[in-house]
Amino acid sequence: ATPTALMVASGRGAQLGIFLKGHQALDASREVDTVVFDKTGTLTNGALDIVSVAVTAGHSHDNVVGAAATLEAASEHAVAKAIAAAADPDAGDVTDFVAEPGRGVRGVVGGRHVQVGSPRWVARGATVPTDLARARRDAESAGQTVVYVAMDDAVCGAIAVADTVKPSAAETVRELRRLGMRTLLVTGDNAAAAQKVADEVGIDEVLAEVLPDEKVARIERLREEGRVVAMVGDGINDAPALVTADLGLAIGRGTDVAIAAADIILVRHDLRSVVEALGLARATRQTIR
Ligand code: ADP
Ligand code: MG
Repeated sequence: ATPTALMVASGRGAQLGIFLKGHQALDASREVDTVVFDKTGTLTNGALDIVSVAVTAGHSHDNVVGAAATLEAASEHAVAKAIAAAADPDAGDVTDFVAEPGRGVRGVVGGRHVQVGSPRWVARGATVPTDLARARRDAESAGQTVVYVAMDDAVCGAIAVADTVKPSAAETVRELRRLGMRTLLVTGDNAAAAQKVADEVGIDEVLAEVLPDEKVARIERLREEGRVVAMVGDGINDAPALVTADLGLAIGRGTDVAIAAADIILVRHDLRSVVEALGLARATRQTIR
């Protein structure tokens, strides 16, 4: 892009809440033929609500939720915010806090080892009480996201949370497809929750239960196939994928890490900005001629 094209695009973009980091963004946006979406906080609102809490025998609801909420107070993940809001973070001092992107969080809360995260990660090497396994299965088949809570290495709780799809998501996907673009949903969440969102917004390629580096691998494969890939995401877990894509678009309410990794920042919550951002280069060219 010429400096003039960039200036014009930047001006137009700013009015639409679209911020370009440089001319590469403009050049890449012209060529994009594939758009990969993150799910939580990107296609969905990312304001999750707790739907149900199951606690196994020998544990109290308040202890499990209290410990989980106290630990999650230190995380900026959408699931964490829902859980942190469910109880006062007063289960004790948190030390040794570790957030593992795409998996969950762990740390010592009031002297006890607490872990909250994806069932696959928390249950690794542990026995899951049948009541919790059942609670997980029921919630996941309803398209909800489930996290397990473990205390001192014993899985003791299953928390189901639910999200809502952004009103602009279906229209955005429809428009991208009308423009001839291939669309994909790539998420760390469970397959049923991913499929539910994909059905609602009209995306037919879904890759679920993937870690951040597997999101990267999927994008690399698309590029090897000759696709020019835009990635739209909001979380720390999306940062590597945003960098790997030809064009990274970060949702402005996302994490600083995602914003730093992207080529384009979308300030608005409305996903139609994605279509506008991809059209910016084309529109600018016509304006200049
Ligand atoms: P997405 O691709 O939908 O943004 P992530 O890759 O961030 O999802 O996370 C994948 C899964 O890991 C989540 O569905 C959740 O089960 C778990 N997870 C990640 N971070 C956290 C956290 N802070 N607390 C609890 N669970 C988490
Ligand atoms: Mg996300």
